[in-house]
Amino acid sequence: MQRLQAQQPRPKGPAAAAAPDAFARRTAVVTGAAGFIGSHLCERLLDLGANVIGIDNLLTGRLDNLSHLRSADGFRFQADDVTRPFTVAGPVDFVFHLASPASPLDYARHPLATLKVGAIGTLNALEMAEAKRARFLLASTSEVYGDPLVHPQPEQYWGNVNPIGPRSVYDEAKRYAEALTSCFHRTGGTRTRIVRIFNTYGPRMRADDGRAVPAFIQQALAGEPITVAGDGGQTRSLCFVADTVEGLLATTAAEYAGPVNIGNPHEITMLQLAEEIRTMTGSASAITFVPLPADDPKRRCPDITAARAHLDWEPTTHLRDGLRQTLDWAEKHFPAQTVAAGG
Ligand code: NAD
Repeated sequence: MQRLQAQQPRPKGPAAAAAPDAFARRTAVVTGAAGFIGSHLCERLLDLGANVIGIDNLLTGRLDNLSHLRSADGFRFQADDVTRPFTVAGPVDFVFHLASPASPLDYARHPLATLKVGAIGTLNALEMAEAKRARFLLASTSEVYGDPLVHPQPEQYWGNVNPIGPRSVYDEAKRYAEALTSCFHRTGGTRTRIVRIFNTYGPRMRADDGRAVPAFIQQALAGEPITVAGDGGQTRSLCFVADTVEGLLATTAAEYAGPVNIGNPHEITMLQLAEEIRTMTGSASAITFVPLPADDPKRRCPDITAARAHLDWEPTTHLRDGLRQTLDWAEKHFPAQTVAAGG
């Protein structure tokens, strides 16, 4: 697996250093705070000296993800469903809108809630940001490119999305969220940013969220067959969560409205990923193949030229380092039995 290492982007130093001064003594609202990326973002904002108000309805997130922050100075949790109008006490400088189920299994479980949070939840979060005169960041997704016909995907590509397929509850909700955010930017005077996040992995992913990294790790640790979708030749580009968080902060701090791709341009096949995880865990699991889910994209790879140029950002964590940190966490937190197959 030397090749995996060799093709990683070269570390560049602290990616954009997240413009640390931009967040010190400022107040940030994070919707989706109890989720995987949201909890890491809250932690990093607190590290940078921000006051953080985390909002979540715990649809797919867990309070456990925030348990180490709840007694931290400057952190407050507010249980709210952002599909209902909401506000927070006091001034707000930044609104990071991350609330939304994000894994295909989760949005298949919660299709209407996914459409609502992308549409109504984004409207409510934008109106709150407008009322507070706060800068707004939308966590959009590479899924807005659908099953792309252009590789790698630059932000100018409009995508190839099936508007009525099972994934459309997520893809189209995020496309609508981008349209809403752009509308507020153009007409309302709200300063907005849009990031299109590509596949992110790391500690605090749920074993049962259906995405390949936690599913393969869970299966490998349990010594059960690692189930790869299709022939495993479909690719993803995996970005470690700490890099993604730096990308969100760099975007928010920069004077570039985006949309901007935040992801790791290093592409690997799902079969390579399964083999790498099997090797790293020392597992004797067999690798077996299951049918591809509907509308599963065959390739997904960000063009991060804009992020490099406008944010001075690029991922710096090698896949093996990120997987090691994820594995260390999973060994302590995943259940002994496999709960879901992924790919
Ligand atoms: P996650 O499911 O772990 O976190 C999402 C959080 O939003 C959860 O805590 C959930 O309870 C909360 N939430 C959902 N609906 C809500 C509502 N109506 N009101 C309040 N809270 C609500 O997902 P994640 O992987 O952390 O993703 C975070 C964001 O990043 C999402 O917007 C997702 O679309 C985007 N994103 C993630 C990835 C990835 O690879 N993880 C890739 C692209 C985009």
